[in-house]
Amino acid sequence: MTLTPKNSGWIEVICGPMFSGKTEELIRRLVRAQIAKQKVAIFKPTTDNRFEGEYIVSHNQRKIKSVQVHDPGIILDYLNKADVFGIDEAQFFDKSIVKVCKSLANSGKRVVVAGLEKDYLAKSFGSMPDLLIDAEYITKVNAICMGCGDPANFSHRISSEKKLVVVGETDKYEALCRRCYIEQRKDKR
Ligand code: ADP
Ligand code: MG
Ligand code: ZN
Repeated sequence: MTLTPKNSGWIEVICGPMFSGKTEELIRRLVRAQIAKQKVAIFKPTTDNRFEGEYIVSHNQRKIKSVQVHDPGIILDYLNKADVFGIDEAQFFDKSIVKVCKSLANSGKRVVVAGLEKDYLAKSFGSMPDLLIDAEYITKVNAICMGCGDPANFSHRISSEKKLVVVGETDKYEALCRRCYIEQRKDKR
């Protein structure tokens, strides 16, 4: 298929806490684009080494082939190779990810970005706020609170490590609602 330049591209951001289904939703959108014969290029940062290097994998074991990059600038090398760009774990990229997403969208591409907008202390994470500002479409997904079953908007770190980036799974994090999160954090400040 030849690529026809479109008048305008756009940015879609999928955000929410850990286990909320961001990667699942990202994969869903990208697979549908592939079914429609769109050329799709998918990227994830090297920080996220939880799964096999070449795949983006959701917690419910769906997966899709991706390219692992350290420098977001590399994504622009794929400009003429795809119509749709998928990026997972965007919070782990340096701030040049914003410029990259904008220039892809400015060049007529559909850019679908998933990432955590909040870290485990509920502070804004990496460049997610800037991506949210620029996005045409924002989808915020919730997980289910492990404490009470309400909608969970917070990622609570169960382990006692204090650095910002600690890659982990249910051994280190749980999704909590506002009330349960406040309850869990109150003795930790
Ligand atoms: P994210 O990318 O937002 O971390 P994923 O798309 O990888 O999320 O995984 C979502 C899946 O995680 C759900 O479909 C479910 O199978 C699983 N899961 C684990 N813990 C929870 C939770 N507390 N609430 C909802 N889903 C959860
Ligand atoms: Mg994910
Ligand atoms: Zn709760």
